[in-house]
Amino acid sequence: MPLVRYRKVAILGYRSVGKTSLAHQFVEGEFLEGYDPTVENTYSKTVTLGKDEFHLHLVDTAGQDEYSILPYSFIIGVHGYVLVYSITSLHSFQIIKSLYQKLHEGHGKTRLPVVLVGNKADLSPDREVQAIEGKKLAESWGATFVESSARENQVPHLKTNLVTWLTVSFLTHCLVV
Ligand code: GDP
Repeated sequence: MPLVRYRKVAILGYRSVGKTSLAHQFVEGEFLEGYDPTVENTYSKTVTLGKDEFHLHLVDTAGQDEYSILPYSFIIGVHGYVLVYSITSLHSFQIIKSLYQKLHEGHGKTRLPVVLVGNKADLSPDREVQAIEGKKLAESWGATFVESSARENQVPHLKTNLVTWLTVSFLTHCLVV
């Protein structure tokens, strides 16, 4: 009998950075055109690692800003975080830094399983955040970093499929804790 484990992962970041699009790509394998602001939505997917099955619940949040107070439901019972900014918005990158601080404080400063995602990499002519800045920030947290395009389902610099990459990252950083 495989061991089935439940893992809850929250997707946080400023509004319109592509949180819903990433969650949708990960679970459904398709990109949704158009912007429909999310209230809060949960996606489920079962991922297999060796003999173990993980029932993954992805919580797609409404989006946060510098004034957001994180509810307990984003802290208690959450096993890992996907922090998303858009490479076309320096503001969204700055929001991520304050979000991480709040999470860190909420979790009693233990090391957090985090995947940092710089989304909308297909819009690089409009880039406001360099990849090296995202990489350095993630390194300072001991987190994993990737630039992605939810639109193209791609991790451009690795020339790999986004869904595959996210699966591996979730397994190594958010699930095996
Ligand atoms: P959320 O508010 O963070 O959940 O953002 P959404 O997923 O709703 O996306 C906001 C807008 O950005 C929508 O119009 C999406 O179609 C668009 N979008 C999301 N991801 C990408 C991407 O990787 N590339 C491009 N070009 N547009 C994207």
